[in-house]
Amino acid sequence: MAGARPGGEGFSLSEPEIIRRYFLDRASGGDDVIVGIGDDGAILRPPEHADLVVSVDMLVAEVHFGREASAEDIGYKALAVNLSDLAAMGAEPAWATLALALPAADEGWLDGFSRGFLELARRHGVKLVGGDLTRGPLAIAVGVYGFVPRGTGLRRTGARPGDLVYVTGTLGDAALGLLISQGRAETEEIFWDHLNARLYRPAPRIAEGLALRGRASSAIDLSDGLVSDLGHLLAASGAGATIDIDSLPLSPAVQAVGDARTRFELALAGGDDYELCFTLAPGSHITLESTSAHCIGRIEEQAGLRFVRADGTRFVPGSAGYRHF
Ligand SMILES: [Mg+2]
Repeated sequence: MAGARPGGEGFSLSEPEIIRRYFLDRASGGDDVIVGIGDDGAILRPPEHADLVVSVDMLVAEVHFGREASAEDIGYKALAVNLSDLAAMGAEPAWATLALALPAADEGWLDGFSRGFLELARRHGVKLVGGDLTRGPLAIAVGVYGFVPRGTGLRRTGARPGDLVYVTGTLGDAALGLLISQGRAETEEIFWDHLNARLYRPAPRIAEGLALRGRASSAIDLSDGLVSDLGHLLAASGAGATIDIDSLPLSPAVQAVGDARTRFELALAGGDDYELCFTLAPGSHITLESTSAHCIGRIEEQAGLRFVRADGTRFVPGSAGYRHF
């Protein structure tokens, strides 16, 4: 990890000590990492005949996570949201970099954060190869690096009229979990664990992204909600879509929400689900069981996103998903 040593008041440990204690011993090496953490830069060996896929995301306290989030959950989620972007590109994750701004070298916080981060890293064979540490308001920037066989990366641009629209998993769980954690909604206790896991421990759909490589005509991950993210995909593809509201996959927890409009709003506009939304040309085969995917609509020539109920009536969502600015 290169960069300025934080030092000064608030940091009793030096940057190298922090890295050694919380990140170095627990980060794994391997044939592809010639030089990892500890030098001015990492020296990495990409596989032959592969395209490198790079993504970076920033998480800021009070914007991306509240005070109630544990350090371990923040560490986990900081990597998970980045791996979700690699999943949307069909990439197999390889490496990560981490830049942290911390108000103080709180050892309990660092221990929890690194445990959450490295737990998920290990699960996906991701090696932490470098980063930076500085003093400042809590902010986390994670970079991830993955590979696809040359020319096979998934994009947002390939959806064509007639293609079918799919989503993996279920929608709206993280948004419902957030409302409950803020005391703005209630649910039965049997759903708490599921909703907390969906909010704080999203599972990046890496295996699904790999299965879609060379098959899906387009793909995106759902970080800001279906309306917003599918809107990005449609704009990039120069197409529109009609979505069948009654075919949206909902978990038992979201199904238990009494009011139908609230259920649909959670599924359409709720962010943080980190499922994949993708399109398939009609007749293209894919083992849909392996992607846990549901067909929710169809791509059309007419621009824009339209929603219909099973009985054919139109549905107009009240909000359009998370807006960053
Ligand atoms: Mg994304």
